[in-house]
Amino acid sequence: CGIVGYVGDRGSLDVLLGGLGRLEYRGYDSAGVAVIDAEGDLSTRKRAGRLSVLADDLIAHPLADGATGIGHTRWATHGGPTDGNAHPHLGDDGKLALIHNGIIENFAELKAELLAQGDDFTSETDTEVAALLVGRAYRETGDLTEALRRVVARLEGAFTLLAVHREQPGVVVGARRNSPLVIGLGDGENFLGSDVAAFVEHTRRFVAIGQDQIVTIRPDAVEITDFDGNAVEGEESEVSWDA
Ligand code: GLU
Repeated sequence: CGIVGYVGDRGSLDVLLGGLGRLEYRGYDSAGVAVIDAEGDLSTRKRAGRLSVLADDLIAHPLADGATGIGHTRWATHGGPTDGNAHPHLGDDGKLALIHNGIIENFAELKAELLAQGDDFTSETDTEVAALLVGRAYRETGDLTEALRRVVARLEGAFTLLAVHREQPGVVVGARRNSPLVIGLGDGENFLGSDVAAFVEHTRRFVAIGQDQIVTIRPDAVEITDFDGNAVEGEESEVSWDA
Protein backbone atom coordinates (compact mmCIF):
# COMPACT_ATOMS: atom_id res chain seq x y z
CA CYS A 1 0.00 0.00 0.00
CA GLY A 2 3.04 2.24 0.34
CA ILE A 3 6.10 2.31 -1.91
CA VAL A 4 9.53 3.94 -1.59
CA GLY A 5 12.61 3.69 -3.81
CA TYR A 6 16.06 5.25 -3.42
CA VAL A 7 19.31 5.60 -5.39
CA GLY A 8 22.13 7.84 -4.20
CA ASP A 9 25.27 7.85 -2.12
CA ARG A 10 24.09 6.98 1.37
CA GLY A 11 22.60 3.98 3.09
CA SER A 12 19.08 3.52 1.79
CA LEU A 13 17.61 1.69 4.81
CA ASP A 14 17.04 4.91 6.79
CA VAL A 15 15.44 6.56 3.76
CA LEU A 16 13.21 3.54 3.11
CA LEU A 17 12.04 3.07 6.70
CA GLY A 18 11.53 6.82 7.16
CA GLY A 19 9.49 7.00 3.96
CA LEU A 20 7.40 3.95 4.83
CA GLY A 21 6.74 5.53 8.23
CA ARG A 22 5.36 8.62 6.52
CA LEU A 23 3.06 6.42 4.43
CA GLU A 24 1.80 4.45 7.47
CA TYR A 25 -1.40 6.51 7.62
CA ARG A 26 -2.60 4.65 4.51
CA GLY A 27 -2.89 1.39 6.45
CA TYR A 28 -1.00 -1.89 5.85
CA ASP A 29 -0.42 -5.36 7.30
CA SER A 30 3.23 -6.17 6.41
CA ALA A 31 6.43 -4.41 5.43
CA GLY A 32 9.66 -5.24 3.63
CA VAL A 33 12.82 -3.86 2.03
CA ALA A 34 15.44 -4.87 -0.55
CA VAL A 35 18.89 -3.27 -0.66
CA ILE A 36 21.89 -3.62 -2.99
CA ASP A 37 25.19 -3.00 -1.19
CA ALA A 38 28.60 -1.85 -2.46
CA GLU A 39 29.60 -5.44 -3.32
CA GLY A 40 26.55 -5.76 -5.54
CA ASP A 41 24.81 -8.16 -3.15
CA LEU A 42 21.04 -7.99 -2.91
CA SER A 43 19.49 -8.56 0.52
CA THR A 44 15.84 -8.51 1.50
CA ARG A 45 13.92 -8.57 4.78
CA LYS A 46 10.14 -8.71 5.13
CA ARG A 47 7.81 -9.18 8.07
CA ALA A 48 4.09 -9.35 8.71
CA GLY A 49 2.87 -6.78 11.23
CA ARG A 50 3.75 -3.20 12.05
CA LEU A 51 6.69 -1.38 10.52
CA SER A 52 8.27 -1.52 13.99
CA VAL A 53 8.40 -5.35 13.71
CA LEU A 54 10.54 -4.98 10.58
CA ALA A 55 12.63 -2.17 12.13
CA ASP A 56 13.28 -4.24 15.31
CA ASP A 57 14.21 -7.25 13.18
CA LEU A 58 16.71 -5.10 11.26
CA ILE A 59 18.27 -3.96 14.55
CA ALA A 60 18.48 -7.52 15.91
CA HIS A 61 19.79 -8.94 12.61
CA PRO A 62 21.32 -6.09 10.59
CA LEU A 63 21.17 -6.16 6.80
CA ALA A 64 24.16 -5.06 4.68
CA ASP A 65 23.06 -1.50 3.88
CA GLY A 66 23.55 -0.03 0.42
CA ALA A 67 22.83 3.03 -1.70
CA THR A 68 20.13 1.35 -3.84
CA GLY A 69 16.90 0.19 -2.24
CA ILE A 70 13.16 -0.33 -2.36
CA GLY A 71 10.64 -0.52 0.50
CA HIS A 72 7.01 -1.64 0.69
CA THR A 73 4.06 -1.72 3.02
CA ARG A 74 1.45 -4.30 1.98
CA TRP A 75 -2.30 -4.35 2.22
CA ALA A 76 -2.99 -7.99 1.36
CA THR A 77 -5.40 -8.74 -1.48
CA HIS A 78 -4.12 -12.17 -2.64
CA GLY A 79 -2.70 -14.38 0.12
CA GLY A 80 -2.93 -13.70 3.84
CA PRO A 81 -0.70 -11.25 5.75
CA THR A 82 2.30 -13.54 6.37
CA ASP A 83 6.08 -13.05 6.19
CA GLY A 84 6.17 -15.13 3.00
CA ASN A 85 3.47 -13.13 1.24
CA ALA A 86 5.03 -9.79 2.25
CA HIS A 87 7.00 -7.99 -0.46
CA PRO A 88 9.64 -7.85 -1.96
CA HIS A 89 9.24 -10.94 -4.14
CA LEU A 90 12.22 -12.38 -5.98
CA GLY A 91 12.96 -13.31 -9.58
CA ASP A 92 15.93 -14.42 -11.68
CA ASP A 93 17.07 -16.90 -8.99
CA GLY A 94 17.06 -14.30 -6.25
CA LYS A 95 19.02 -11.68 -8.19
CA LEU A 96 15.99 -9.43 -8.66
CA ALA A 97 13.57 -7.97 -6.10
CA LEU A 98 10.18 -6.46 -6.90
CA ILE A 99 7.44 -4.69 -4.93
CA HIS A 100 3.86 -4.00 -5.99
CA ASN A 101 0.85 -1.96 -4.98
CA GLY A 102 -2.45 -2.93 -6.57
CA ILE A 103 -3.93 -6.06 -8.13
CA ILE A 104 -2.80 -8.05 -11.18
CA GLU A 105 -6.18 -9.27 -12.48
CA ASN A 106 -4.81 -11.90 -14.88
CA PHE A 107 -2.29 -13.38 -12.45
CA ALA A 108 -3.89 -16.86 -12.45
CA GLU A 109 -3.25 -17.50 -16.15
CA LEU A 110 0.27 -16.04 -15.91
CA LYS A 111 0.95 -18.25 -12.88
CA ALA A 112 -0.21 -21.35 -14.75
CA GLU A 113 2.12 -20.46 -17.60
CA LEU A 114 5.11 -19.98 -15.26
CA LEU A 115 4.37 -23.22 -13.39
CA ALA A 116 4.28 -25.04 -16.73
CA GLN A 117 7.71 -23.55 -17.50
CA GLY A 118 9.07 -24.88 -14.22
CA ASP A 119 9.09 -21.78 -11.98
CA ASP A 120 8.55 -22.30 -8.24
CA PHE A 121 6.30 -20.00 -6.22
CA THR A 122 6.99 -19.19 -2.58
CA SER A 123 3.87 -17.08 -1.94
CA GLU A 124 0.15 -16.92 -2.70
CA THR A 125 0.36 -13.37 -4.03
CA ASP A 126 -0.56 -12.06 -7.46
CA THR A 127 2.69 -10.05 -7.25
CA GLU A 128 5.07 -13.01 -7.48
CA VAL A 129 4.09 -13.62 -11.14
CA ALA A 130 5.42 -10.14 -11.95
CA ALA A 131 8.70 -10.81 -10.10
CA LEU A 132 9.25 -14.11 -11.94
CA LEU A 133 8.24 -12.67 -15.33
CA VAL A 134 10.57 -9.67 -14.95
CA GLY A 135 13.33 -12.09 -13.90
CA ARG A 136 12.82 -14.14 -17.07
CA ALA A 137 12.67 -10.99 -19.23
CA TYR A 138 15.88 -9.73 -17.60
CA ARG A 139 17.65 -12.95 -18.52
CA GLU A 140 16.66 -12.31 -22.15
CA THR A 141 17.38 -8.57 -22.33
CA GLY A 142 20.07 -7.91 -19.69
CA ASP A 143 18.35 -4.60 -18.97
CA LEU A 144 15.94 -3.98 -16.11
CA THR A 145 13.98 -1.17 -17.81
CA GLU A 146 13.49 -3.24 -20.95
CA ALA A 147 12.54 -6.27 -18.87
CA LEU A 148 9.86 -4.34 -16.99
CA ARG A 149 8.56 -2.86 -20.26
CA ARG A 150 8.05 -6.34 -21.71
CA VAL A 151 6.19 -7.54 -18.65
CA VAL A 152 3.82 -4.61 -18.07
CA ALA A 153 2.50 -5.16 -21.59
CA ARG A 154 1.15 -8.50 -20.32
CA LEU A 155 -0.34 -7.33 -17.01
CA GLU A 156 -3.99 -6.37 -16.50
CA GLY A 157 -5.33 -4.47 -13.52
CA ALA A 158 -3.78 -1.85 -11.28
CA PHE A 159 -0.13 -1.70 -10.40
CA THR A 160 2.71 0.40 -9.20
CA LEU A 161 5.82 -1.79 -9.54
CA LEU A 162 9.40 -1.11 -8.47
CA ALA A 163 12.28 -3.45 -9.24
CA VAL A 164 16.02 -3.69 -8.58
CA HIS A 165 18.55 -6.20 -9.93
CA ARG A 166 21.92 -6.98 -8.33
CA GLU A 167 23.67 -6.68 -11.70
CA GLN A 168 22.42 -3.09 -12.01
CA PRO A 169 23.35 -1.37 -8.72
CA GLY A 170 22.46 2.33 -8.80
CA VAL A 171 19.25 1.70 -10.76
CA VAL A 172 15.63 1.50 -9.61
CA VAL A 173 12.94 1.00 -12.25
CA GLY A 174 9.26 1.76 -11.67
CA ALA A 175 6.08 1.39 -13.72
CA ARG A 176 2.50 2.34 -13.13
CA ARG A 177 -1.06 1.79 -14.34
CA ASN A 178 -4.18 2.84 -12.40
CA SER A 179 -2.05 3.35 -9.28
CA PRO A 180 0.17 6.34 -8.40
CA LEU A 181 3.96 6.82 -8.67
CA VAL A 182 5.96 9.98 -8.09
CA ILE A 183 9.69 10.77 -8.59
CA GLY A 184 11.50 12.86 -5.98
CA LEU A 185 14.40 14.81 -7.49
CA GLY A 186 17.45 15.13 -5.24
CA ASP A 187 21.02 16.28 -5.57
CA GLY A 188 23.13 13.23 -6.49
CA GLU A 189 20.24 11.06 -5.36
CA ASN A 190 16.70 10.36 -6.55
CA PHE A 191 13.59 8.86 -5.01
CA LEU A 192 10.39 7.10 -5.99
CA GLY A 193 7.21 7.06 -3.92
CA SER A 194 3.58 6.08 -4.12
CA ASP A 195 3.05 9.57 -2.69
CA VAL A 196 5.34 12.60 -2.12
CA ALA A 197 5.16 11.86 1.62
CA ALA A 198 7.59 9.00 0.90
CA PHE A 199 10.47 11.43 0.29
CA VAL A 200 9.36 14.93 1.28
CA GLU A 201 11.81 15.10 4.19
CA HIS A 202 14.63 14.85 1.60
CA THR A 203 13.34 16.88 -1.36
CA ARG A 204 10.31 18.92 -2.36
CA ARG A 205 10.97 18.72 -6.10
CA PHE A 206 8.89 16.03 -7.75
CA VAL A 207 7.54 14.72 -11.06
CA ALA A 208 4.27 12.77 -11.14
CA ILE A 209 4.48 9.77 -13.50
CA GLY A 210 1.64 9.56 -16.03
CA GLN A 211 -0.62 6.59 -16.74
CA ASP A 212 1.14 3.64 -18.42
CA GLN A 213 4.66 5.00 -18.00
CA ILE A 214 8.00 3.60 -16.86
CA VAL A 215 10.70 5.46 -14.98
CA THR A 216 14.36 4.60 -14.45
CA ILE A 217 16.18 6.48 -11.70
CA ARG A 218 19.93 6.67 -11.14
CA PRO A 219 21.79 8.95 -8.68
CA ASP A 220 22.26 11.61 -11.39
CA ALA A 221 19.56 10.84 -13.95
CA VAL A 222 15.85 10.23 -14.37
CA GLU A 223 14.37 8.78 -17.54
CA ILE A 224 10.65 8.43 -18.27
CA THR A 225 9.14 6.53 -21.20
CA ASP A 226 5.70 5.22 -22.10
CA PHE A 227 5.03 1.47 -22.23
CA ASP A 228 6.13 1.47 -25.90
CA GLY A 229 9.53 3.00 -25.07
CA ASN A 230 8.89 6.53 -26.34
CA ALA A 231 10.60 9.24 -24.26
CA VAL A 232 8.28 11.34 -22.06
CA GLU A 233 9.10 14.81 -20.75
CA GLY A 234 8.23 14.90 -17.04
CA GLU A 235 6.85 18.11 -15.59
CA GLU A 236 8.58 19.23 -12.40
CA SER A 237 6.54 20.56 -9.48
CA GLU A 238 7.26 21.63 -5.92
CA VAL A 239 5.56 20.33 -2.78
CA SER A 240 4.02 23.44 -1.27
CA TRP A 241 2.44 22.15 1.93
CA ASP A 242 4.31 22.08 5.24
CA ALA A 243 5.77 18.62 5.68
N1 GLU B 1 -1.94 -7.54 -4.49
C1 GLU B 1 -0.69 -7.48 -3.81
C2 GLU B 1 -0.67 -8.44 -2.64
O1 GLU B 1 -1.67 -8.86 -2.15
C3 GLU B 1 -0.30 -6.05 -3.37
C4 GLU B 1 -1.23 -5.46 -2.33
C5 GLU B 1 -0.85 -3.99 -1.99
O2 GLU B 1 -1.26 -3.08 -2.74
O3 GLU B 1 -0.18 -3.79 -0.98
O4 GLU B 1 0.37 -8.81 -2.18
